[in-house]
Amino acid sequence: MSQLPTPHQYQILTFGCQMNKNDSERLESIFRGMNMLPTDSSENADVIIMNSCSVRQKAEDKMYGMARNFAHLKKRKPNLIVGITGCMPGRDADGRMKKKLQGVDLFFPTQDMVFLPKWLGELNPSMRMMEDLDKDYLALRPTIQKKSQAFVTLQTGCNHFCTYCVVPFARGLERNRPLRHILDEANHLARGGCVEITLLGQIVNHYIAPDPRHWSTQNPYVQSDFARLLWEINQIDGIERIHWTAPHPIFMTDEVIDALTLPKQVNFLHLPVQSGSNAVLKRMNRRHTREMYIDLIATIREKIPHIALGTDIIVGFCGETKEQFEETVDLYKTCNFDISYTAQYSTRSGTLAKKIFHDDVSRDEKKRRWWVLQKIMEETVLKKNQLFVDSTVSVMVEECSAGWCTGNSNEMKRVRFKGDPPLVGSIVPVQIFKAEEWMLHGIKN
Ligand code: SF4
Repeated sequence: MSQLPTPHQYQILTFGCQMNKNDSERLESIFRGMNMLPTDSSENADVIIMNSCSVRQKAEDKMYGMARNFAHLKKRKPNLIVGITGCMPGRDADGRMKKKLQGVDLFFPTQDMVFLPKWLGELNPSMRMMEDLDKDYLALRPTIQKKSQAFVTLQTGCNHFCTYCVVPFARGLERNRPLRHILDEANHLARGGCVEITLLGQIVNHYIAPDPRHWSTQNPYVQSDFARLLWEINQIDGIERIHWTAPHPIFMTDEVIDALTLPKQVNFLHLPVQSGSNAVLKRMNRRHTREMYIDLIATIREKIPHIALGTDIIVGFCGETKEQFEETVDLYKTCNFDISYTAQYSTRSGTLAKKIFHDDVSRDEKKRRWWVLQKIMEETVLKKNQLFVDSTVSVMVEECSAGWCTGNSNEMKRVRFKGDPPLVGSIVPVQIFKAEEWMLHGIKN
């Protein structure tokens, strides 16, 4: 009896945001379609794909370092195929990055992943080809990592050209997925046991359905496609929680704010502000002002008084004075955020900021400003978390080991309590008895 050939193995290394994670789940589907097996070991892999992030120089430097290591590995394993996708290839218009990367066989923007089977077959004819893939990579169904939680991408790319941001260059202009695909995917996930969906988009609340005839319910009262989509996903049986990221303040219309009160909506909103100074916001081309943002938060809190709020802030942007940074500190305190992802500005080639401004805030000063906000955040979140003590929160259980379970509450607070693995994937009530900055401790009711 002839033996079946050993399946080829692949390793996907993912860096950066949730959008990249969701794209890696699509890559995973391509490899599985080729009857290949996943591996965590680069030594065992026949194909290694790095899904790169370009948001900071540090992230790109990591890719160069890893590519160097894999170039060494290729000396021992000459048939190894190494590829890089994600943001780096997307923004390498002049080919400079590719030139600097050693031993990389495939360097392709995310949307070109549909050609992967063809390219792999050309590099190694023993890698089985599958039938032609849909030309639209977003139509590939992701292989989800956890049955109970999944990302659903609504759009990719961005038209806004904030002066510091690489996204419009790395991912191109905004492209919205057909509504039909999104609803099919959400229904498919629900049938497979998914209870929590995270909707993803660069400006998720700017989603515009390219195929409006596919709305499954008549809703003449809601004009915003994004708000309407939230209404529709709320109707899907099995989905218990809906979360979305990242919205832009200028598209937080009354309809979108109203949708925050839908029954399956999590009690959390991540709304990037980037700076509390109008002068800096203008240089960033953010198109909103400090006053607009503060008013927006007040309106949201009027409707949902106990909503938890997160934001993104960049400190040390070109020309940011100490006084302008103090305006950000003041905004942080006024908005009383639960969490902030604060970044020290790092100049990115290709962006408008790199071309027209000067990265003139010193590294030490950027670090100092980062720590100021970090300290305020830790104090604020501790105070806010203490309000949960003696109350019951509902927790989506993500993992349980050695008798302890963890998961996120509806407010996206991490919660830890005693429990066993069968709880994974369910939503359970937990009474909180102790609060720390980044963890609530409780007992399952
Ligand atoms: S809105 Fe601005 S920061 Fe967000 S992806 Fe678009 S360009 Fe980048």
